[in-house]
Amino acid sequence: KVMVFGSFVVDLMARTPHLPVAGETVIGSLFKMGPGGKGFNQGVAAHKAGADVTMVTKLGKDLFAEVALDAMKTLEMDTSSLFYSEEIETGSALIMVDEETSENKIVVVLGACSAIGDKEVESISEIIEESGYLLTQLETNISAVEKVIDIAKKNGVKVILNTAPVQPISDVILKKVDIITPNEVEAEILTGICIDSQESASKAADWFFDKGVKNVLITLGSRGVFIASESKQEIIPAYKVKAIDTTGAGDAFNGGLVAALADGKDLWEAARFANALAAIAVQRLGTTPAMPTRKEIEEFISN
Ligand code: ADP
Repeated sequence: KVMVFGSFVVDLMARTPHLPVAGETVIGSLFKMGPGGKGFNQGVAAHKAGADVTMVTKLGKDLFAEVALDAMKTLEMDTSSLFYSEEIETGSALIMVDEETSENKIVVVLGACSAIGDKEVESISEIIEESGYLLTQLETNISAVEKVIDIAKKNGVKVILNTAPVQPISDVILKKVDIITPNEVEAEILTGICIDSQESASKAADWFFDKGVKNVLITLGSRGVFIASESKQEIIPAYKVKAIDTTGAGDAFNGGLVAALADGKDLWEAARFANALAAIAVQRLGTTPAMPTRKEIEEFISN
């Protein structure tokens, strides 16, 4: 069993001939609404990859909450461990994309998923304890991330921390992390080491090991993933594919990683599986609709 603890936001995307300046109204050409948020995307990726996922996030009591619930029901995901806020709205992301240049402007209002209380986290301790793996990110309030990691660690649940969106992480949290999964930008911000070679990735990994992290995976976009435990390290190259939309590549990777680990694969095999999952996802538009099924991943790997 896998617990994915993280954010949910509704993505509201408009394509426009140009991005408006302050005070300007632009008539856009396309609007799309769909479920998103790093936590939710990773939960869906893991679920579609075949994991038994308990998705934990917090919604408002509003129309946008229905976007989450509808998506989860369609995907046959368990909705019984969600929290609801009476006062705060469901999270949302307002995304404007310039149709010429693909440049964007984004405002994310995390809303309910950034107000998860300690009591709420405590109320799911039994479900945390029953999980083999906890996957979480930095897109909910950090007090909740800290609490859920603490409960997991005390109960022998393996903790995977995806460091997005990047922000300082206390040493207290880091020492409880079994697998940390920054991308190269996040790794640089956290460690102060610019990741431009295997040697520098290795130095960044040492920085995390010194903090008590057990395994380090630095995702390198189209170059693949650097993976290190204290005894060995390697770069697994990315699959050579024609990427059309790399939004959510990291989410695809993290969901795949936890699904493979929960399936009993070792970290190296799991990273290969995640690499394949993400390679499929970047060839498709969107985030959750781009996540492949387990069958698609297995076929991709065997070809
Ligand atoms: P993020 O989305 O967090 O910035 P990355 O860009 O590092 O994450 O991508 C995560 C993973 O997705 C990579 O480690 C790789 O497995 C896969 N990936 C990303 N971009 C590509 C690409 N262009 N081709 C193949 N795989 C890719």
